[in-house]
Amino acid sequence: MQLTGEQLIGYQVIRGKGRELLAINPDNQQAISTPVFNCATSDLVDQACELAEQAFDPLRATAPETRARFLEAIADGILELGSTLIERAHIETGLPVARLEGERGRTASQLRLFATVLRQGRWQTATFDTALSDRQPLPRPDLRLCKIPLGPVVVFGASNFPLAFSVAGGDTASALAAGCPVVVKAHRAHLGTSELVGRVIQEAARRLELPEGTFSLVVGDGSDVGQQLVSHPAIKAVGFTGSRSGGLALMRTAAARPEPIPVYAEMSSINPVFLLPGALAQRANAIATSFVDALVMGAGQFCTNPGVVLAVEGPDLETFLAQAGASLSEKAAQTMLTPGIHSAYEKGVNRVAAEIGIEPVASGKAQSGGSQAQGHLYQTTAASLLSNSGLLEEVFGPAAIVIRCQSVEDMLAFARSIEGQLTATLHMENQDQAIAQGLVQAMEKKAGRILVNGFPTGVEVCDSMVHGGAFPATSDSRTTSVGSTAIERFLRPVCYQNFSDALLPDALKQDNPLNIWRQIDGQPTAPNR
Ligand code: NAP
Repeated sequence: MQLTGEQLIGYQVIRGKGRELLAINPDNQQAISTPVFNCATSDLVDQACELAEQAFDPLRATAPETRARFLEAIADGILELGSTLIERAHIETGLPVARLEGERGRTASQLRLFATVLRQGRWQTATFDTALSDRQPLPRPDLRLCKIPLGPVVVFGASNFPLAFSVAGGDTASALAAGCPVVVKAHRAHLGTSELVGRVIQEAARRLELPEGTFSLVVGDGSDVGQQLVSHPAIKAVGFTGSRSGGLALMRTAAARPEPIPVYAEMSSINPVFLLPGALAQRANAIATSFVDALVMGAGQFCTNPGVVLAVEGPDLETFLAQAGASLSEKAAQTMLTPGIHSAYEKGVNRVAAEIGIEPVASGKAQSGGSQAQGHLYQTTAASLLSNSGLLEEVFGPAAIVIRCQSVEDMLAFARSIEGQLTATLHMENQDQAIAQGLVQAMEKKAGRILVNGFPTGVEVCDSMVHGGAFPATSDSRTTSVGSTAIERFLRPVCYQNFSDALLPDALKQDNPLNIWRQIDGQPTAPNR
């Protein structure tokens, strides 16, 4: 497949008339000369949004089976790109080939998961309260509920998942599954990768004869193209993964519209890890080694990167620190995704290192040139933290702080006061049960996922996953951006009262033509009944 640097607007391929952009190889910080991308001007952004609006009714009228086949065709098309996709993603992101191959597999299985969700039909939440015409003092009408898609969705591709959270990533897959047309703003960290995947989606939509406008891909600056997309009256929801400042800017824009719309923004999280005394006494060395592996994985560029560790002062904590330091000092520097993300990491690390009460524990191997990130581990005390809350701002990359606590009460106080998080982790043994209960109670109110005896990096894509959490981990703690229930973000319930069968959506027709699970008068009812 030939890259051209053009915009994909519905079924058209159009050269933008805005400024030129080139992809950058973060390994050497050199521009990749082909192709030249031109940013979209506002007329193209309007065109993409208007086409999406026109596509909405015919797309939502398609059978779930048609959309399931669409998602499967996208998954097949991505795999068929073979090494073309992996090589382009590798030079644009610096991510190792093996990681990208793994991410490609996750992207395809995520698309297939939503195909299964569509076929099972539970997402429609078909619910019946049958009429009670003899009820006293008033009869009950026939009432039926199901969920319908919100409308066109804008997705901002994430820098740190060029495949699994970008053009055909989780936000796009869940929105398309719901029946929402999608306009993606490509992330400048992987422009060519975005075009390759975008062309696969465009071709799959064409082959399945889906309405033009089901999908568009635009390239441009967040400050104009991104803002225009979120402000456009045709757009009804936004999916975003990135910085806190970027997410907050989009939330403000969405809230200020004449018709405010939901923004599902995944922003910042430092993912606390609590080392409980029993676990630290039994396996300080093993925990330290696994912690450092998780910390430096993918140059720390995971939203679930463990950025803060808490433990009670004592010889076991010294053992942990010694082993973590030894392990980290063996770790090579790694290329970060973009020069901008690298310089933000360096600034973050320098800011932390300059704080009063912070001491270095160890650093990884340094490497000059390119966007190379060296790992860093610091330590401080719970008391210093009280006067220095800036230490708990996310530093995106392989850096973490160990907080030395005087007692488990310090850990509990931390858990009660920390901001919302994607994850919280407990390392514990049976004797830590009572402390764990207190921490779980505190962290349930903050985190989307709580883990025991593991590390939060590596997010399973499945029905029970929650990749969410209270603000600022996400802008809406009621939802998840990973896993099958991510579809909920792009649906809303409608109640149909006293409808004839002919007027009802298929999910609510009497003879269950979609053959799905439904709830009838409070009872779950299997298909074929
Ligand atoms: P970003 O700067 O927030 O950008 C993400 C996307 O949003 C880009 O397409 C960007 O467009 C757009 N955008 C940013 N600000 C905007 C605004 N005010 N209005 C409209 N659109 C806007 O994130 P990033 O480039 O991926 O990385 C920068 C930093 O974000 C990292 O250093 C890290 O701190 C954080 N980050 C966090 C996570 C996480 O999961 N927690 C993941 C990735 C990044 P432009 O590029 O054109 O501005």
